[in-house]
Amino acid sequence: MKRISTRSTTAIKTDHRSQPLDLSTVRTTNEKIPRTRKRIFGLQEAPIYYPTTEEFKDPIQYIQKIKPEAEQYGIIKIVPPKEYEPGFCLNTEIFRFRTRIQKMNSMEGATRANLNYLDKVQKFHRVLHGKPISRIPVLDKRPIDLYRLKNDVAEKGGFQKVCDEKQWAEIGRSMGYSRQQCTSMSNALKKAYMQIVMPYEHWLAKHKARRSTPLRKDTNDENSDNEPSQELCEICREEGNDDNLVVCDDCDRAYHIFCVEPPLATVPSHEWYCIDCLTGASGDYGFEDGGEYSLPEFHAFCDKFKKRWFSKEKPVKNPDVVAEEDCEDEFWRLVDNPHETCEVEYGADLHSNHHGSGFAPIERGPDGVKGDDPWNLNMIPVLPSSLFTHIKTDISGMMVPWLYIGMCFSAFCWHNEDHFTYSINYMHWGETKTWYGVPGEDTTKFEDTMKKAVPELFEQQPNLLFQLVTMLSPGRLLKEKVRVYAVDQRPGEFVVTFPKAYHSGFNHGFNFCEAVNFAPVDWLHYGLECAKRYKDHRRQPCFSHDELLVNIAKMEVPSENVKWIKAAVSDMEQRELGDRKRFKQQHPSIKQQLSVTKDSNDILFSNDLDQEHLQCLACHCYTYLSYVTCPCTKKVACFEHFDELCKCKESSKLVHLRFSEDELHSLVEMAGGKGNHPSEWLRRAKARLSDDNLTTEEALRMQLKEAKTEGVSKYYTWEMERTLASLKEWEAQASTLLD
Ligand SMILES: [Zn+2]
Ligand SMILES: [Zn+2]
Ligand SMILES: [Zn+2]
Ligand SMILES: [Zn+2]
Repeated sequence: MKRISTRSTTAIKTDHRSQPLDLSTVRTTNEKIPRTRKRIFGLQEAPIYYPTTEEFKDPIQYIQKIKPEAEQYGIIKIVPPKEYEPGFCLNTEIFRFRTRIQKMNSMEGATRANLNYLDKVQKFHRVLHGKPISRIPVLDKRPIDLYRLKNDVAEKGGFQKVCDEKQWAEIGRSMGYSRQQCTSMSNALKKAYMQIVMPYEHWLAKHKARRSTPLRKDTNDENSDNEPSQELCEICREEGNDDNLVVCDDCDRAYHIFCVEPPLATVPSHEWYCIDCLTGASGDYGFEDGGEYSLPEFHAFCDKFKKRWFSKEKPVKNPDVVAEEDCEDEFWRLVDNPHETCEVEYGADLHSNHHGSGFAPIERGPDGVKGDDPWNLNMIPVLPSSLFTHIKTDISGMMVPWLYIGMCFSAFCWHNEDHFTYSINYMHWGETKTWYGVPGEDTTKFEDTMKKAVPELFEQQPNLLFQLVTMLSPGRLLKEKVRVYAVDQRPGEFVVTFPKAYHSGFNHGFNFCEAVNFAPVDWLHYGLECAKRYKDHRRQPCFSHDELLVNIAKMEVPSENVKWIKAAVSDMEQRELGDRKRFKQQHPSIKQQLSVTKDSNDILFSNDLDQEHLQCLACHCYTYLSYVTCPCTKKVACFEHFDELCKCKESSKLVHLRFSEDELHSLVEMAGGKGNHPSEWLRRAKARLSDDNLTTEEALRMQLKEAKTEGVSKYYTWEMERTLASLKEWEAQASTLLD
């Protein structure tokens, strides 16, 4: 067994100065050497756009213009006009970053499932069966693929049926063995199945139902506690009796020897695995932490690796200049091969708030952000046509760029963006990044193919698609009629991914990219679709889609956007009113009432004018428009999950509504238009003016201040301004009288 150890993480030192990066040592131009052969898997190219200087003025407008064609590919490349030169502004003397390790043969879904299975079978025979497998049986000079064998036998109805119907030869053929040695092949497969696969499968069938703990949560979930508990027994959930705790060699979780099934007499001195790890109920495929580097240090490391790889492991004519097609072919060879190990490091998801941006700094003032290059990725999320300017909560993860520092073969696995937003990625310098994209229309087909390819992984981790840990070969996707396109990004070029479009890719060598999400009006319906999807999967959203809609409804927006916004807000009204009505019909004893803020002072003086952001205890959705409470708990629930709140009788519960029906409707009326009807603001005004703790003057000042920040039209404020002015007049008169 493993000793209990406390993991420590080293903080990145920022006071350390290193050599600056010499930009003449990296590629900064985008000229390409034409490919000498077709792209692997016969992949088609995604389109490349060359905007004119005039077209290049506004990124969001330009992307909207090309969208009808471009979104059919999921990803596209934009090559800026020649004169575009944003410069590289990162301070490379103080810039240091930490990498993650990527094991090439555990990235591909099927390869990983295969390795996993083999690992579990071997553990089972070694630990539980007491008879380690000394060697995987060989047929046709290669080890029998036990995972494939298991799946093929299961597909044909199980061991007995395969024997009865004499299907072993057929299975052998489908596994790619030649016909000649038919009988010996059948016998070898049958023997391997009986001796190795069957004992494990029997044991598994018996124990699957007895898993000790529920499946572990999504490992990427920031709120989940990733540290395994080390003193608590996973079964009885109690501390103490430490001498009788055994720690799993795989997942590090602790168990009392008398709690496990069957109980152990003593703490094993040899390796030991918990039932979850043996049955495959747990599984953590996140990438491990790698080293800490400055850019010149990582540069040297990357170059050395690539040169060695293409002279020793996969020799090419000139290892100093590896052709892009050779690198791409080798990448997929490594990903698809379970028996070849190759580890690389990737500096991914580095937040520019902590690390700085490669683009020129922009001014962040109280009136927003200023800068003269709208393609500066710090600008894009806050351009007037981007909806994220209306999000008041901290979603800095989606508002500021992230940095990506690549190495040869380092990869980003299949994913689409949070909240189905667009993303835009710029390569500052370095070697090519190859992208693969699936059009948003093919998302369902893509996900089905993924599930079909690796059912085991999905059974273990239903949220697998939300994690950036699985690569599936584009060849396999194409076979299932999923459209996949590829594009090579070089220095100075932008790649845009469209809403919902799955994408993945890898780097050819040391490079530096920066990327950010953005959301123009046409994104709204994707955003709603994604919010629903998160709810279904009980996944934590980054922000409340409804709150965003309400904020947008209150603002003046460019006139061409009004129809989109009106439609989205009207849809929200219908949805919310429908939900309320249905809930009332099904649960007539639960009262519904407008929520009144009790402690108005707290709300008034905090920066966030809105109530705290409540989330449903079950699905984690933001309960912005309405929520259910019960006096027995501080937690809240959405309509759908109100019965998970507590076991109290229905009549003790209460539905809180943020807006009345009228207010919801007025939101639709004013959505996007001028002379907004500030229902929320007016409601606050009423409350404040009748509040004994506030003087009239204080209340009016607050209202007027908020009117400014909330964009309330003059129509509603002129009377208040007049009252305030006359109050001042009276005050002045009063003080002269006292003199
Ligand atoms: Zn216990
Ligand atoms: Zn374990
Ligand atoms: Zn819920
Ligand atoms: Zn209750």
